[in-house]
Amino acid sequence: MHNKFSKKNFFHALTVVLIFWLMSVNTYAAGQISLVINGEAFQAHDANGNEIYPLVYENRTYLPVRAIAEVFGKPIDWDGFTNTVYIGNKGSGVNSYSDEVRIVLDGSIFVYYDENGTQLKPIIVNETSYLPLRGAAMAFNKQIEWSAEERTVYITDKEESISLQENSVQTGDLRSVLAANIENYNTEEIDISEYNISCDELKTLVSDIVNRPEFYYVASSFMYSHYDNIVQNVRFDYTIGKSIVEQARQANASGEYKILFIGDWDSITDSTYKDRLENIFYEVYPRLVRRWGDENTSKAIILKADKNFDMGENVVGFTHGYLISFSTAFANKNPRDVGFFAHELTHAVQQYIHLDSSWWTENMANYGRFRYYHWAGDDLLKLDYYSPSVRDWNYEPYGNCMWFFAYMDSKYPTVKNADGSLEYGLIDSLNRAVRSGRVRTDGGSTQSDADFNSIVSEITGFPDIDSLREQYIKELNDKSWLFTGFDGYADNFITENIPGVKDPVYNRP
Ligand SMILES: [Zn+2]
Repeated sequence: MHNKFSKKNFFHALTVVLIFWLMSVNTYAAGQISLVINGEAFQAHDANGNEIYPLVYENRTYLPVRAIAEVFGKPIDWDGFTNTVYIGNKGSGVNSYSDEVRIVLDGSIFVYYDENGTQLKPIIVNETSYLPLRGAAMAFNKQIEWSAEERTVYITDKEESISLQENSVQTGDLRSVLAANIENYNTEEIDISEYNISCDELKTLVSDIVNRPEFYYVASSFMYSHYDNIVQNVRFDYTIGKSIVEQARQANASGEYKILFIGDWDSITDSTYKDRLENIFYEVYPRLVRRWGDENTSKAIILKADKNFDMGENVVGFTHGYLISFSTAFANKNPRDVGFFAHELTHAVQQYIHLDSSWWTENMANYGRFRYYHWAGDDLLKLDYYSPSVRDWNYEPYGNCMWFFAYMDSKYPTVKNADGSLEYGLIDSLNRAVRSGRVRTDGGSTQSDADFNSIVSEITGFPDIDSLREQYIKELNDKSWLFTGFDGYADNFITENIPGVKDPVYNRP
């Protein structure tokens, strides 16, 4: 089954490094803690209506985040698929799964520290998320005090913090300061207290600067001032090392494809493994970039063999910007199974930072692997016309949709006009719309997103993707659509004749 290959994920290329561990807490201080909001006693309830209370864990007091959010009129949402708690406006959302619970506050990932600069993390107890007092105070912009004597938490309104947007000259200055520090690989703390910038504003500014291929490998951390919600300093990390970043930058500057290896390659027992992945890279990645990337897509990929890779038993690889990590344990167990790498390479090309759904993301990655790696190699896969799994996949992230994608490309391909311009077909139009942010979700299990389906409708005449699937089933049933391989596909011109890359061999099933 192809499904056993890489799962998850495609992770927002950079922004800020924010780490909230999911902790399971089995024991905590007993004894109910009272809550007083603006002078009035308040009883919090969980999502099922049960009474819940603030709790103390490892000498820190935590508040139930949903109940507090509701009091202050902030919508709150939990997305188990990406492991994210949304407070306030969701913004474009998070499209990647993380092992660690993340909090997205009004569209930005939320990170906070204690007075000693230690990052604080939410905890989850009995399926309810709790934030430490200090984090809750920042998230809701309230004054929050804990009286151990009275075993009571007091929450009161406070004055608004200063906004930087009033002073754009200052923002411009700060932007150049930060950009220069990234350019120079400065890993020291940078004091920015004089800029009076809030964490949200800083995150926007920094992600704007680093959201360029050559900076995808930069992570940042911010330190808050305790009292006024103002960021005091910033630190940048070059997570994979200066020389690797430098080589990636050089490859992009010269326009040459380049794979860079880091990590635990010594742990892989098959001596041909690395060479085979390298060959896949130089054969498959240029095709994928031609088909679904653009001029900003990185020509360099950093491939990390990770002997400590641990993202659950079904997860083999993971793509974060242009860094792909994979499990050496998987490699040693399945030395012939290298197709996952083509799946991850498709994710690297996608860079779907706006998309908050995974059916499209994952199944297109499977199709990328199928069409531009398996099919073009000698691992042939044959369509079973009668298999239920090729007909209905419930829009699962790892459904058996490769044939449906092949169908879409056969019926609605990208073609070249007489003047050389391109007329985009269905898959390529959806890819472009997702990349640009015009489409932000595929609608999840119901596939009901209006933007997504408006593109389906523009190109195919069918009102939505599921109607197209029904048509596909009809054609499978009466065999009016036969799959005889990819030769003859009208869009092959996109991935052929790439300098330095041999053309695919379209073997027949
Ligand atoms: Zn994937």
